[in-house]
Amino acid sequence: MNVLVINCGSSSLKYQLIDSDTETVLAKGLCERIGIDGKLTYQKAGLAKETSEPAMPTHKEAIQLVLDALVNEKTGAIKDLSEVGAVGHRIVHGGEKFASSALITDEMLAAVEECNDLAPLHNPANLIGINACKDLMPGVPMVGVFDTAFHQTMPEKAYLYGLPYEYYEKYKVRRYGFHGTSHSFVSKHMAEFLGMDINNSKIIVAHLGNGASISAVKDGKCVDTSMGLTPLEGLVMGTRSGDIDPAIMEFIAKKENLDIAGVMNVLNKKSGVQGISKVSSDFRDLEEGMNNGNPLCAAAIEVFSYRVAKYIGSYVAALNGVDAIAFTAGIGENAPTVRAKVCEYLGYLGVTLDQEANGHRGEDLIISTPDSKVKVCIIPTDEELAIARDTVALVKA
Ligand code: ADP
Repeated sequence: MNVLVINCGSSSLKYQLIDSDTETVLAKGLCERIGIDGKLTYQKAGLAKETSEPAMPTHKEAIQLVLDALVNEKTGAIKDLSEVGAVGHRIVHGGEKFASSALITDEMLAAVEECNDLAPLHNPANLIGINACKDLMPGVPMVGVFDTAFHQTMPEKAYLYGLPYEYYEKYKVRRYGFHGTSHSFVSKHMAEFLGMDINNSKIIVAHLGNGASISAVKDGKCVDTSMGLTPLEGLVMGTRSGDIDPAIMEFIAKKENLDIAGVMNVLNKKSGVQGISKVSSDFRDLEEGMNNGNPLCAAAIEVFSYRVAKYIGSYVAALNGVDAIAFTAGIGENAPTVRAKVCEYLGYLGVTLDQEANGHRGEDLIISTPDSKVKVCIIPTDEELAIARDTVALVKA
């Protein structure tokens, strides 16, 4: 079955058409600047990327353009839209309502809408994409795959904050965690790759991208994760602060004369390795800066790596041990320097890094030495494939 995977943001939309039988990508691309002017990128497998700038006043026109590109006579990946068997949508927040992916029905959409205030920037955009697809592809079954779902197995002691309990009762303020599709895919895939029994395993997944999070996975189920009510908590990220002393917010607000929105803007967009380095949120730029002797680029990489190592340590405590650690996403898959720095802190666990293997990037690979007590791997994530798999499983059920 061909599955169209859609990841809809407020002004952008990423898509992939995946043949789920062979698990190959038939075509993929991106709509950008929706509601502003519009830019479409489309690439059929094996052909060059095409870009165009058609008007995209709303997500509906954007999706129509994607569907037109998919059936285009010359470069289309399919002949007719009837060849799309299902659509899988990424949905950011499923609150406590969704512990797994779900078939999209009117009732399901109403439940997603109730989670909107937990992710006011993301969920409404996801819903717009779903509704546009419903209009343009009536009758095609659709599935919602939630970023938060995999983390719903966390125990209360991991998800409750040290706040008045009534905030949980009244507003559902708790840890939810994000990147769940990736943490789920990577933990399962690493167990397969290493020939481990996932039902008897202790795994830590470090998803290090622009947004970054770590999870502790016991017997295939998430028991803790570093992101919280929102994706701001936890690791130091590209532009997000991650964990800070909450009192810094009032201190900076007074010093810089900022209101709460202004402080949140700093924590989300001007902090992280970008804020520390004053140079960039991209690790390629930071490594270049460090190699050219820029001390703040070096400091940003150190702070980032140290925070990752501290979280790994705390998750070893949560799991009472660890069998295998996975590095994934843009930085985890491509930055040997960061992996090496993190692993330097893990000697007490008996982790030894194979320096040669660690020089590789972007493929399933064991990067610890054969005698390392804990296996360390690079496991490239594939959230779109994970969404396609869940979609097929639910549509065929
Ligand atoms: P997101 O999906 O959160 O936007 P990604 O997982 O795509 O992020 O990761 C993007 C980040 O990965 C970049 O900002 C950069 O820091 C890092 N990255 C990508 N390629 C490389 C590379 N070759 N070397 C070092 N870092 C890289």
